[in-house]
Amino acid sequence: MQKLVQNIVVLGAAESAVGAAILAIKNNYNVFVSDAGKIKASFRDELDSYGIQWEENGHSAARILNADVIVKSPGIPETSIIMQEIRDKKIRVVSEIEFAFPFSKGRHICITGSNGKTTTTLLIHHILKKAGFDVGLAGNVGHSYAKQVALEDREWYVLELSSFQLDDMFDFRADISIITNITPDHLDRYAYEMQNYVDAKFRILQNQRETDWFIYNLDDPIISKEIASRNPKMQMAPFSLLQEVILGAYSINKQITINIKQPITMSIHELALKGKHNTQNALAAGIASRLVEIRKDIVRESLGDFVNAEHRMEFVAKVNGIEFINDSKATNINSTWFALESMEKPVVWIVGGVDKGNDYSELISLVKGKVKAIICLGSDNKKLFAAFSGLVENIVEANSAIEAVAYGYKLAKKDEVVLLSPACASFDLFENYEDRGNQFKHAVRLL
Ligand code: ADP
Repeated sequence: MQKLVQNIVVLGAAESAVGAAILAIKNNYNVFVSDAGKIKASFRDELDSYGIQWEENGHSAARILNADVIVKSPGIPETSIIMQEIRDKKIRVVSEIEFAFPFSKGRHICITGSNGKTTTTLLIHHILKKAGFDVGLAGNVGHSYAKQVALEDREWYVLELSSFQLDDMFDFRADISIITNITPDHLDRYAYEMQNYVDAKFRILQNQRETDWFIYNLDDPIISKEIASRNPKMQMAPFSLLQEVILGAYSINKQITINIKQPITMSIHELALKGKHNTQNALAAGIASRLVEIRKDIVRESLGDFVNAEHRMEFVAKVNGIEFINDSKATNINSTWFALESMEKPVVWIVGGVDKGNDYSELISLVKGKVKAIICLGSDNKKLFAAFSGLVENIVEANSAIEAVAYGYKLAKKDEVVLLSPACASFDLFENYEDRGNQFKHAVRLL
């Protein structure tokens, strides 16, 4: 039977969008890709190689508003003129993942949360790969999900889903969903209403069946409250650092136990990633891998030899006994809280950037206990001075990574740590968090 040809417009033209366009053309849709900015040459070439029409540096409204479906990249704000016109016309808007889902025969393990998404996603992917699964990595990491579905559909996918992606997902169904934690973040995109952000995260459960699984952080008060009011019906396997869990996982007294079928126990010293936050990520990943019946020895080995992505509590170098750690990906209070919490030596802390509505009071007791000096690395540091002046020996301002590292080297002594964990976004002084982390590492290597 011939399928009705539909007009699809893909807004944005980076990894996920180009993948969606390829999947659409392979399924005989009329496809048009439109980007408000310049499209990277490699993506333009890729679109051309499939004969996909595209435009850059602006949107042709008439053509876009004629679409049956819009596939929207997560970075495009609802407040943009084109999105408002699309909403006024009530055209269906979906994410790349929502669009591609019906075309895949695979099963899906999906991870969301305020922090720990990438680490947990990579960790699960690592375990499944080691176990010999045919598995794709996608969402905010890896390659476009839609492109993998189009070119080599996998039996399994591990997908990192941000709240923005979840906002445009409706019929997608996760076989296993994970919420790592929920703390305030991106509230600027959610009308400064925490509940809107919580609701976006909980969309990861929508359409799950009673036989599917939901893995969550039992110690997180926001998640627990939400579960109590929603009373979800799928099977649940929580993890905790505070209490034993019969069906799930926990870590108490420096041991972890994964209680799914036959229990696995390990010392936290055997885990590749250090810090309480990473123990939580390992518990979540351990549960997921046992639910898909990966052997105990493979889970244990993989949790022990995993290498994380850059900029997440990344050891950079030791210079004259001073350790430098790059945690540039810490862009909110909660992730920085865990970074400071895991420090065992006196800390010179580099913090600051674009603050998304931070409440620094949550860090005060850690700062009092662990931080000897603060280096503010942002264009506006008033809030940091107001929160921390008087609590530490020194508080100074730096305008570049080089300057911040030079201060760090001056203020720290042997057997102390200089920690970049900014609790803020980076785009006042840097292109993005990767640029900030790379500049920091470069400056350290110049010492
Ligand atoms: P995300 O993809 O959600 O941003 P990442 O794994 O990239 O998460 O980590 C982002 C930051 O949060 C890093 O600074 C990291 O050290 C910290 N982090 C990682 N896992 C957790 C967690 N479970 N809870 C709190 N912070 C975390």
